Amino acid sequence: HAKAAGAGGYASYDPQMHSGLIARLQLEADLRRALENDEFELHYQPTIRLDNGAVVGFEALLRWRHPTRGLVPPAEFVSLAEATGMILPIGQWVLTEACRQAAEWIGASPDRPMTMAVNVSGRQFGQDDFADIVERVLAESGLAPERLCLEMTESVVMNDTEENLALLTRLKAIGVKLAIDDFGTGYSSLSYLRRFPVDTLKIDRSFVERLGQQSDDATLARTIVQLGQSLGMSTVAEGIEHSEQFLALRRMGCERAQGYYFSRPLPAIQAGAVLTGGRAALMAGNKPASMLA
Ligand code: C2E
Ligand code: MG
Ligand code: MG
Ligand code: MG
Repeated sequence: HAKAAGAGGYASYDPQMHSGLIARLQLEADLRRALENDEFELHYQPTIRLDNGAVVGFEALLRWRHPTRGLVPPAEFVSLAEATGMILPIGQWVLTEACRQAAEWIGASPDRPMTMAVNVSGRQFGQDDFADIVERVLAESGLAPERLCLEMTESVVMNDTEENLALLTRLKAIGVKLAIDDFGTGYSSLSYLRRFPVDTLKIDRSFVERLGQQSDDATLARTIVQLGQSLGMSTVAEGIEHSEQFLALRRMGCERAQGYYFSRPLPAIQAGAVLTGGRAALMAGNKPASMLA
């Protein structure tokens, strides 16, 4: 195999590997240029309290404003950014920008509840100085630690569990909130879940999809809400698109939710308006009476 030849060169020519390598190098160069040219932006999806419909936070979601390809979603570049390591500077930019934006919004209305959630990749989480970076970004932005929630996927958290326990404990000591993203899709060890200082489980969209549809299956969503309750963790449902899903999750006792039903991820200007206008701004569109009940 080519890899066996080491850094010196190729032992054999594998056209597929070659074009994959070229594409990767190209993307890496593009991502580096994107960072230098400020081509990344964050969109913010509101998080809603299910009992009263209030906006209580946002999740920052990365977008790449590509000069020729337009707005590129993370699915098209995040995993390659992980593979090349470019996710480290990009992730640090995301954290910095999300904290800056959150501090600005909170500065305008300090008493309103508002938590900013930021997605953290496995690569970032594995950095030795990740907790130091978080601490420094918080200090520089002036954002109170409890206003920041770090989202890590279940597979990242449940890998290297002993090491993660130490890191999560350190992050918790800084005062930030911790959430497990896409919960239910991985293989959580219940004994670790119980020991991890995690605040929130985010119910994966695949379980929300099954609610209130023809193939109505509420079992898994309900199980996760109950698991959260028995572990003292709150639950956030992701991907709510219909009122039936909203009503079902509220009945189950799920605290918060996100989804196109409430709002798509919004550019900062519009997200800021939702925050100021609160529920009214969100309701102004097509929101049904069930949310006001
Ligand atoms: P995620 O963290 O689970 O984020 C939720 C994704 O679901 C977002 O996609 C969001 O736009 C989408 N979504 C929200 N509500 C609905 C809905 O009602 N229906 C449907 N069909 N989709 C909904 P997005 O923004 O494309 O992000 C995809 C994934 O990319 C994220 O999944 C996250 O894993 C990753 N990602 C996004 N931003 C970042 C980032 O800054 N850093 C890292 N490492 N990963 C990121
Ligand atoms: Mg997330
Ligand atoms: Mg998620
Ligand atoms: Mg997801």
